[in-house]
Amino acid sequence: MELLKERILREATIINQDVLKLDALLNHQVDPQLTLEMGKEFARLFAETPITKVITVESSGIPVAFTTAMALNVPLVFARRKKTLIADPDSYSERVPSFTKGIVTDIMVSRQFLTEQDTVLFIDDIIANGDAARGLIKIIDRSGAKLAGLGIVVEKSFQAGARTIREQGIRVESLARIASLEGGKIRFET
Ligand code: 5GP
Repeated sequence: MELLKERILREATIINQDVLKLDALLNHQVDPQLTLEMGKEFARLFAETPITKVITVESSGIPVAFTTAMALNVPLVFARRKKTLIADPDSYSERVPSFTKGIVTDIMVSRQFLTEQDTVLFIDDIIANGDAARGLIKIIDRSGAKLAGLGIVVEKSFQAGARTIREQGIRVESLARIASLEGGKIRFET
């Protein structure tokens, strides 16, 4: 998505060769117009799949998941993050390491909001090693819901997350794919 790539070049900050600060667009401030365009683009990319729900993990995935759900006219479910989770028979949970915070959190989805009747589109902000995504994919699997695919705003394709998920046969669509942050420069996949 050209508009998004332009905004990344203008507004992102390179922290080091692995991490890009995207607070101006995704993780601290949100541009409603740009987020609306991203949602429409995901809805267009998955238009041929009969999706019943959009799903994401709180918190930075929520705005773009919301605009996607709005464009598809379906509900949005967001997995909650909990510090420590007491086993709850009414919910699915998975332990996921956090790429940026260096901690482990539990993510949970109530059984009430994810059932085998659902076909879900999983939307997220950034994919690095794919731990967060794999956690939610396990929850989706256990619920019996079908996974239409993943819509990712920024894929860092020099890290293995998206590739390993594609290798599982899951469709992953990214709006911007970053090939490298080396030398203090953002290079997109061509
Ligand atoms: P993963 O589980 O794929 O390794 O990391 C996914 C999560 O870590 C993303 O949802 C995002 O919140 C955070 N993350 C990973 N890499 C970056 C990065 O380069 N910049 C920012 N801002 N967040 C990142």
